[in-house]
Amino acid sequence: MMRTSIAVLAVFSTVGLLLANIPQPSTKDSESDPYRKQRERMVASQIDWRGVRAGRVGVRDEAVLDAMRRVPRHEFVPKKYKSSAYADSPLPIGYDQTISQPYIVGFMTEMLKVKKEHKVLEIGTGSGYQAAVLAEIVDNVYSIEIIEELGEQVKERLKRLNYRNITVRIGDGYFGWEEHAPFDAIIVTAAADHIPPPLVKQLKPGGRMGIPVGGRFQVQNLLIVEKALDGTVTTKQKMPVRFVPLTRSRKNQKQER
Ligand code: SAH
Repeated sequence: MMRTSIAVLAVFSTVGLLLANIPQPSTKDSESDPYRKQRERMVASQIDWRGVRAGRVGVRDEAVLDAMRRVPRHEFVPKKYKSSAYADSPLPIGYDQTISQPYIVGFMTEMLKVKKEHKVLEIGTGSGYQAAVLAEIVDNVYSIEIIEELGEQVKERLKRLNYRNITVRIGDGYFGWEEHAPFDAIIVTAAADHIPPPLVKQLKPGGRMGIPVGGRFQVQNLLIVEKALDGTVTTKQKMPVRFVPLTRSRKNQKQER
């Protein structure tokens, strides 16, 4: 009995060695990124309109799907959650905050209808994942994070991952980023109780803003705010969502490490 299992083991390790010697199609994709398969599965089953379950509106924009196939989501979650990085859910990132569910990131990115030459503002950098997905598509992303520690962490992470077209600032995003305004698109990834007027002001005519509106214990609505070329602003509800609140000061925030 014992001898058989040793023999089986020996056969397996030989096969393992043989496989290891077969040249891989691309070193970059298959060896240094063991999460590529998981990422492709995530896009195919949770986000892509061809594969999502009934009742979920899937994403059709190929640029968005491609961006999500590229961004290494496992680099944006705490170490202990790496194995769940590609699951169909949000995950804690410390400081009572979360990285959004992949589907929500895909849906919101698509609804902004961004193009390469666009300049986008994000409120609520968090892990930086949403910013990275946008940065795969557009030329420039500006993102504001209110929690200093998260802001510092994310600056490091984006630098390490070589996202040179994302600029992060620590501050209260309610007031937008006047210096770089106007923006082709604005995305708010924390729930506000009203649409911040400074953000509407900093939206380009023809621009769009995605923002969840509603209190912490209420149903929040994901809204799309559109500014027409003549400056007229219209708002439509897209779907019920759940986001952490847009805060205005750090006083009541608990630190989680
Ligand atoms: N887009 C993020 C999701 C982060 S969760 C991601 O992809 O990971 C929401 C983030 O918004 C939190 O990090 C929170 O600290 C931040 N936030 C809340 N209120 C804010 C405000 N007024 N200005 C800027 N950031 C804010």
